[in-house]
Amino acid sequence: MWKYTPAPRSAQTTIPCSCCSTPLEARRSCHEATLYCPSCKRAFPVQDYVKHMDEALENFLEALQCNRI
Ligand SMILES: [Zn+2]
Repeated sequence: MWKYTPAPRSAQTTIPCSCCSTPLEARRSCHEATLYCPSCKRAFPVQDYVKHMDEALENFLEALQCNRI
């Protein structure tokens, strides 16, 4: 059964980019979440920033859980 939990496509986090300190944007594509820096125009794996996870990212990833397994 599919769970129709409305999962946002992106979320603004407070996690600073490791290159330029711009707050990263959490994005999802299909089943994967990435962190995007609008300044560097680069996407980073969420795993790279797991240690810096904030509430916005946590909630974002929680919404994705229904897509996993
Ligand atoms: Zn950056």
